Amino acid sequence: MASSASVHVAVIGAGIVGAAAAHFLAAAGARVTLLDASGPAAGATGASDGAVSVASKRPGPMMDLARHARAFYARCEQDGLFRGLFHRRSTFLVARTAVEAELVAQHGADLAAAGERVVEVDRTALLDRIPGLGASVCAALEIPDDGHALGYEITERLLGRSLIDIRRNAPVSEIVMRAGRVAGVAIRDELLTADAVLVAAGIGSAPLLGLGDILIPRKGQMAVTDRASAAGPAIDGHLMAASYLAAKRGIVRDNNHIGLVIDPLMTGQFLIGGSREDNRSDHSTDAVTIAAILREALDLYPPLAHRRILRSFAGVRTASRDGLPIVGLHPQREGVAIATGFEGDGICLGPFMGASAARLLLGETPEADLSALTPQRFVRIEAHA
Ligand SMILES: Cc1cc2nc3c(=O)[nH]c(=O)nc-3n(C[C@H](O)[C@H](O)[C@H](O)COP(=O)(O)OP(=O)(O)OC[C@H]3O[C@@H](n4cnc5c(N)ncnc54)[C@H](O)[C@@H]3O)c2cc1C
Repeated sequence: MASSASVHVAVIGAGIVGAAAAHFLAAAGARVTLLDASGPAAGATGASDGAVSVASKRPGPMMDLARHARAFYARCEQDGLFRGLFHRRSTFLVARTAVEAELVAQHGADLAAAGERVVEVDRTALLDRIPGLGASVCAALEIPDDGHALGYEITERLLGRSLIDIRRNAPVSEIVMRAGRVAGVAIRDELLTADAVLVAAGIGSAPLLGLGDILIPRKGQMAVTDRASAAGPAIDGHLMAASYLAAKRGIVRDNNHIGLVIDPLMTGQFLIGGSREDNRSDHSTDAVTIAAILREALDLYPPLAHRRILRSFAGVRTASRDGLPIVGLHPQREGVAIATGFEGDGICLGPFMGASAARLLLGETPEADLSALTPQRFVRIEAHA
């Protein structure tokens, strides 16, 4: 699709990815209709943590793309778009056993090889930075250049600064094709005509694209505390346990596994998570899982014992079978692009990936190499087209 003020793009899904794509398409002069079955940030974007973290990524394309994505946040913060919403802060990768220490060291080496700053922190120095840390913590690395942003705030900002038509309660049931090219989308009995369509519907992308056996819902439960400080984060960085890295690196695949993170929010509260429950797309929380998360969290950071748990919540990540997002032009359906499968990384990657999808739809080259994310790798897409 050539860049033109007259083209009409229908974006399906008003999460952080769809909102970013809509924003940058409109900024480039396209006419954009953003459709959501519910409303902005109603999916994973509104039920997540906000780590804009390279430290948490698997080595390879995810680590590299996260570096681009975090730099994109910094650029958008500087140019005013994300002013006040993106905050720099360190991630501490922490180990509590010798085996975990080995894993953290390996991950640190992979981060350094990708060009990331990695600082070894001994227990004394770590206790100076994070007083009260658990006795079991035996090794830590600091990744000083990470950041934080709340997905729903970023989504609201992107939409608030765009001239686009936002349609809530607009569930798309079908992408309508004519003579091999996209003609629009079906919403109940209505056909909305469009020159191009972007599918950024999280787990809702599966039925629209015939990706039911490729996209997996992965539920995450989290808990939120009261304020430990009156203003600003209560501790000097984001605590990421080796158990989280083990899950991200594919070492542990277990529906009862807790990939522990303790996230000090700007409000002074802590966000503590989380579970990784495959094939669960409901939003319920349960006492067994929340208790397991809190037990882990108290071992890592005992001062949490003084906090009140205000609420628990669950969100649904969209994972792909090979663990990589799916971003690119549809291999068979002309005029259709896809941006989904961001699993637990879409707050970090979302704005950059939305901007990249916008560029692809406008016939431009994205700023980073997205070849590892191509939809083409799933031949089943072609079979379903
Ligand atoms: C517990 C938890 C913690 C997380 N923590 C982090 C973190 O710290 N850092 C990080 O980077 N990421 C994190 N994530 C992941 C992140 O939240 C997601 O990757 C990201 O929000 C995905 O955004 P999205 O726009 O692709 O999808 P979503 O936010 O799921 O948006 C999809 C939208 O599409 C709409 N939709 C679906 N089907 C249709 C249809 N047929 N028609 C119209 N609309 C439709 C939905 O209503 C929804 O609003 C976490 C996720 C969870 C669950």
